[in-house]
Amino acid sequence: MYHAIFTGSPSTNELPMNIASWLHSTARTRPDAPAIFSGERLHADYATFARRSAAIAAGLHARHGIAAGDRVVVFLKNCPEYLELLYGIWWLGAVAVPANAKLHPAEIAYIAEDSGARLLVSDTGKLRSESELPANCTEIALGSPSWDALHASGGPEKPAETDAHDTAWIFYTSGTTGRPKGVMLTHRNLMMMSLCYAIDVDQVSHTHTILYPAPMSHGGGLYNFPYVRAGASHCVPVSRGFDAGEIAALSRHFGETAYFAAPTMVRRQIDEAQRSGYHGEGIRTVVYGGGPMYGPDIDEALAVFGPRFVQIYGQGESPMTISVLPRDVVADTSHPNWRKRRDSVGVAQACIELRIVDSEGNDLPPGRSGEILVRGDTVMRGYWRNEEATAKTIVDGWLHTGDIGHLDEDGFLTLTDRSKDVIISGGTNIYPREVEDVLISHPGVAEAAVIGLPDPEWGEIVVAVVAARGDAILHEDELEALCRSRIASFKKPRRYVFLDELPKNAYGKILKRELRAQLEQK
Ligand code: AMP
Repeated sequence: MYHAIFTGSPSTNELPMNIASWLHSTARTRPDAPAIFSGERLHADYATFARRSAAIAAGLHARHGIAAGDRVVVFLKNCPEYLELLYGIWWLGAVAVPANAKLHPAEIAYIAEDSGARLLVSDTGKLRSESELPANCTEIALGSPSWDALHASGGPEKPAETDAHDTAWIFYTSGTTGRPKGVMLTHRNLMMMSLCYAIDVDQVSHTHTILYPAPMSHGGGLYNFPYVRAGASHCVPVSRGFDAGEIAALSRHFGETAYFAAPTMVRRQIDEAQRSGYHGEGIRTVVYGGGPMYGPDIDEALAVFGPRFVQIYGQGESPMTISVLPRDVVADTSHPNWRKRRDSVGVAQACIELRIVDSEGNDLPPGRSGEILVRGDTVMRGYWRNEEATAKTIVDGWLHTGDIGHLDEDGFLTLTDRSKDVIISGGTNIYPREVEDVLISHPGVAEAAVIGLPDPEWGEIVVAVVAARGDAILHEDELEALCRSRIASFKKPRRYVFLDELPKNAYGKILKRELRAQLEQK
């Protein structure tokens, strides 16, 4: 049993559970409890939420031939129907592929193709006319007659039986090499993530409300589970995104709110609070993470809002669940190590083991930096249809995070670097390789390197350093237009720097560290 739990061995079946059973159970214990709100307007109570999800399950099957294990891409901005659709997919035993609503149509078409999705639900219903969606992937638009038809008849009383090791959620993450990869998260992964939330992050009661100002396709949405289980309320802001004033108003209205916020959002919330004189009334918990938080910002957040902040560190491959910095530790300025602890990402979460290793895989003592390895039941099953990448990332049961850090004597983890080249801007990962591939495709570009430079608002901004081919004359607006035609807007370089040649090492590899240092100096 011990072995099975901590290796996540897919051969055991001692937890034959579908995560949608949490909705089924809550709908029976608290049918009239308010479940989903759009702003302050009630969208569904728990009985309605479960009934609609069950109906969607039936509609997916009857109208689109979706069966257990089939993939459905959810390409929507945050909306109340998001949760009904996710649970409808799971009610059927199918697999949700929630995709970032800001992606370029060509990027979504790739995800639809790679995941082999039979169906894609979008806001506009126009993706097929904007990109090459696979022929066998049907697109339906939220709110269209085809969407309504999904709910036309009743659905099965109970969610389908799935094995807890079946995939529930595929989370697409880019990498340093090649195209995005699908992280397979099982029902069990999501349950264990929720248990860690309940133990380490916050104890959820039915009187609480989770807000969704961050994308529901990512961490913000992953946090729905403990709230569904508790029969708490879910509120999607009317703006369908982050607006600091709206979050303050909703928190005042509901009381006891919780939400996930990237560091950029926390900064904006402080600025807004200082303008309006708001002090966090109604906010119970802000979970921050997803990218480095600037120390003075969290100090200011504590001064303005009080001890409502919990930090988490995770990654798609172990969603929201590697380490935690509890609210009292964040706020305990009397502790001799407080500042160091505040700048750390906390201690391993309850169901997680951590190791720091050198490049040969040897364990390193406290104080020495190396790659962070993670083991536990939240670690993904693997990358979708990519055994090679899975084998490189999960070695002997340990997830290689690509993050570099060290532990202190008390087990606090401090991140110092990333071995993967990723840029984190506003809490969103941008993989330079994706942007470089686009720039290099321009006939006048000989070399391109994309790096992140520090920025007070975004954490980092994307900067492209480009060298021209021969006598070619490069224009920034041409490169900008090229990027616009191929990748999501948030990945586009904010600045271009033109050099005759990029600095390289003896093997011809571009020295990004050197480039970064040069540009930071300027
Ligand atoms: P994603 O897979 O998109 O969730 O991105 C995960 C990456 O974001 C991690 O591997 C880290 O590099 C970074 N990250 C996540 N949480 C934190 C945090 N609290 N502080 C600093 N970086 C973080």
